[in-house]
Amino acid sequence: KQVPETLQKVSQREEWKDMQQQISMGECPNCGRFIVDKGAFFGCEGYRADPSCSFTISKKIRGKVLGKRDVATLLSKGSTNVIKGFKSKTGKSFDAQLKLEEGKIQFVFPKK
Ligand SMILES: [Zn+2]
Repeated sequence: KQVPETLQKVSQREEWKDMQQQISMGECPNCGRFIVDKGAFFGCEGYRADPSCSFTISKKIRGKVLGKRDVATLLSKGSTNVIKGFKSKTGKSFDAQLKLEEGKIQFVFPKK
C-alpha cells in the first residue's frame, strides 16, 4: 500500500516542477533557482528565501519592453540576439544585444 502513495507524491512533485518551468524564464545566474515573472520585473524566486537572492531583470530597459523569449535566451545563453529599438538618453533609438556579466545586464553593440 505504501508504494502507490510514494508514486503519487513523486508525480505531484514532477507536476509542480513542470509548472515552475512553464512560468519560469530560466535559471538564476547567481543561485540556480528559477527566474519568474514578478509583475513589474523578472526576478529570482529565491528573493525571500534564505540565503536570499536579489537577482532581477527589468521588463523595460531603455524604453524597450523585453519579451519573455529575450529573457529566456539571455538566461540560457548569457546574451540575447540583437534587440532593436532601445532609446538612448538623448532619445536616439539604437540596437544592441543584452549580455549578462556577473549578474548584471550590459549592452553589446553590433559591429558595423
Ligand atoms: Zn537567484
